[in-house]
Amino acid sequence: MSENKNVVEIHGCIVCARLFDILVMYTPAGKLVDSTVISPGGHRVMDERQPLVACNTHTAMEIEAYKRSKLQYSEC
Ligand SMILES: [Zn+2]
Repeated sequence: MSENKNVVEIHGCIVCARLFDILVMYTPAGKLVDSTVISPGGHRVMDERQPLVACNTHTAMEIEAYKRSKLQYSEC
């Protein structure tokens, strides 16, 4: 049997790069399971491959636009 592990990571808001503490859960193989933003004023942005965060002040459209542009170059 294997257990998922929780790690606290610091990630920048995908829109303005403000830093947030995020509790991230990984499988023993290193696959992202879940993430929770610990710092106030931010919320997670769903992504299968990496934990992402954005300030509560940004609109969903703003976040989606940045998410697309940010993730394009890591597609390879
Ligand atoms: Zn922000």
